[in-house]
Amino acid sequence: MPLTLEIDGVRWRERVRRLVDDAAAAGVTVVPVAKGNGYGFGNPVLAAEAAKLGVPTLAVGTYEELAAVTGPFAGDVLVLTPWRPWLPAADDDNVVHTVSRLDDLRRLAEGPGRPRVVVEVITSMRRHGIEPAELPAIAGLLDGVRFEGFALHLPLSGDHAAQARTLAEAAFSAVPDDDGGGARTLWVSHLSTDRAAALGRETAATVRLRVGTDLWLGDRDALIVHATVLDVHRLRRGEPYGYRQRQARRDGHVVVVTGGTAHGVALEAPTSAATARQRAAALARGGLQSMGRALSPFRVAGKQRWFAEPPHMQCSMIWLPDGVTPPAVGDEVEVEVRFTTTTFDRLVWDD
Ligand SMILES: *Cc1c(COP(=O)(O)O)cnc(C)c1O
Repeated sequence: MPLTLEIDGVRWRERVRRLVDDAAAAGVTVVPVAKGNGYGFGNPVLAAEAAKLGVPTLAVGTYEELAAVTGPFAGDVLVLTPWRPWLPAADDDNVVHTVSRLDDLRRLAEGPGRPRVVVEVITSMRRHGIEPAELPAIAGLLDGVRFEGFALHLPLSGDHAAQARTLAEAAFSAVPDDDGGGARTLWVSHLSTDRAAALGRETAATVRLRVGTDLWLGDRDALIVHATVLDVHRLRRGEPYGYRQRQARRDGHVVVVTGGTAHGVALEAPTSAATARQRAAALARGGLQSMGRALSPFRVAGKQRWFAEPPHMQCSMIWLPDGVTPPAVGDEVEVEVRFTTTTFDRLVWDD
């Protein structure tokens, strides 16, 4: 049996729907984000869930991800990576492009058709976006596109409501307000529903809130990850084991479990954890020191266990000291993973 993500479907869907409904009650439309590894679920699954929610728009990270969601999700799809000249300039009715440079807006406006576009304004993130000083230049280019509003990608930490308001006001004052709504739409990320609603009121804008992590991974208790024990071997002190033929430092067991580097086990994205405690927790989720011992993300007999050696492609070898009763072949063990870097072999919905 493989590395499995088990979902308490009723509870998980309840949380997802509540976030969308609460936002709607506050006047904010949630734009679910399905990108990368699909937050552990896979993008087609998230697209199907978004379709069930009845939201008008789904966001994907890249143009390459469009194909996986357009089957399950029939609505509009916003591409978060800004359009560049080497990408297709589709004026596909369902695709909304993000544009972050004046040159790109000009090319789309002068190219065939009238592509749907959202203009991204740069924030203190300094990732993508048109500088506020360039905003007045966009007004003359909007005739060649279908303008759907402005995008702001805000940092995760800190309170950025004031920044969002200042940028939104600068953006709105740069474009005429007579095109039927697009000009007063704001696509924002990383604001709470309340903050997003307040921003909408303060700037008289329609707000669309792009949410991934908080939507799909907002209730971790609805998600359980299991690996399966594939083998258990008794080792005596001094006996060699593993690819590197390291010698057992004492008596114990090597437990071989499903889940390896192919699943993203122990391939941690660089952590932004600020405190020693967060760093320790991140390390425990898989950050690997390949030479020394590393705490594995696998939990056996109630405790996270050390890797016997760095994980292999499809499985991992865990060290279990004597005194701990080893699990049996076929038993399941819990795994602490980072969902945005883990690929599961299967999803099991309990409902
Ligand atoms: C990934 C992304 C999001 C969603 O981020 P989460 O932190 O997962 O909610 C929103 N906006 C943009 C532009 C993104 O790239």
